[in-house]
Amino acid sequence: MSYDAAVIGGGVIGLSCAYRLARNGKKVVVLERGTIREGASWASGGMIRPVTEFEGNRAFFDLCCESARMYPGFVKEVERDSGIAVEYDATGSILVASNKDEEFQLLEKYQFAKSNGIAARILSEGEARRKEPELNMPLRIALYMPSDNQVNNRLLLKALKAAAERNGAAIIEHCHVTSILSSGGRHELVAKQGSFACEHLIHCEGAWAAEHAGAAVKPIRGQMIRFSIKGIAIKHIISHHPIYLIPRKDATLVAGSTVEDVGFDARVTETAMQHLYEQAIALIPALAECTVVERWAGLRPLSATGIPYIGTIREHEHLAAGHYRNGILLAPITAKIIAEAVITGKQHPSFSPMHLEQVMA
Ligand SMILES: Cc1cc2nc3c(=O)[nH]c(=O)nc-3n(C[C@H](O)[C@H](O)[C@H](O)COP(=O)(O)OP(=O)(O)OC[C@H]3O[C@@H](n4cnc5c(N)ncnc54)[C@H](O)[C@@H]3O)c2cc1C
Repeated sequence: MSYDAAVIGGGVIGLSCAYRLARNGKKVVVLERGTIREGASWASGGMIRPVTEFEGNRAFFDLCCESARMYPGFVKEVERDSGIAVEYDATGSILVASNKDEEFQLLEKYQFAKSNGIAARILSEGEARRKEPELNMPLRIALYMPSDNQVNNRLLLKALKAAAERNGAAIIEHCHVTSILSSGGRHELVAKQGSFACEHLIHCEGAWAAEHAGAAVKPIRGQMIRFSIKGIAIKHIISHHPIYLIPRKDATLVAGSTVEDVGFDARVTETAMQHLYEQAIALIPALAECTVVERWAGLRPLSATGIPYIGTIREHEHLAAGHYRNGILLAPITAKIIAEAVITGKQHPSFSPMHLEQVMA
């Protein structure tokens, strides 16, 4: 079989790119060595928080904001094409500070949000408790970010797969690409199932992007636990750096996460689980009465520059990897940039040849 585009990797980035290309009439195949549950995207928290995650790179922040603005339209399209609701929700965040340093950092974030026209409000301890009565930790101030959103990342993956398939894309799971033969601007991807010829090759292998694309991307483990919180009302995402609590619509709450440089080891550890559990209870004591219903870990793809590379790397060969802590947030803009690169050959101005050199180093 020959395709206009073949995508390696069935995480949120690969599926979003495939969906966007299929919507544009391209004949697309996604090759995923496990299932769509395999990678970081399934393990994720699904938060869409450009300011909260901001770490200093202005161009990257602008890209995150653009993607966050695209989210409502992206979700509407994916839900319509798949028939699956993805629980995109304006949850809002409450970030808390319990000491002077944390207070200073929150005030800086507040100023940054305001200077960028993003809604933010400083709350006293009493105001924070009125918004979130179960929050019961001594705090100096809190920062309320009403425009922080979340999406149920697992439903989003299912919906993207269904939406891409309904637009004609083939999603082949349990299909490990073991080698790639490229010549004259065409590619042949080899897997146990056979070989797949394509005009455009799109690397979306997440933390595994070094193997075939040659990108300097490495895995950073994040561990998570889920509580069943029936009968306890928690309305907002609550963060006390580096811990966050995300209330879901199914009466569960996800608590995360660790940041560990331990190679391709996606196991959970008792030490991290205990730490997350204790930190979650320090924020919301009522969680001590709740049952832990799931524990898991995922590997975030971290590039050499700390930000992703999204664009063409060789003739008819494209890379969308290194999304680190923001792959769910960046899915809509990534898919748009890759679709433009495939269809028109246009490169996004955020991704210069110098950036490419650093990411491929
Ligand atoms: C604990 C945790 C919490 C997070 N929270 C958030 C959050 O709140 N908000 C946010 O925006 N982001 C968050 N992230 C980050 C986000 O999940 C990632 O940036 C994103 O999922 C990366 O998507 P991806 O498609 O590039 O990679 P992945 O989802 O890892 O997908 C890559 C896929 O490629 C496949 N693959 C690799 N090599 C091959 C091959 N040779 N052949 C076939 N298939 C192959 C893998 O099996 C895998 O399924 C979080 C991540 C973690 C781990």
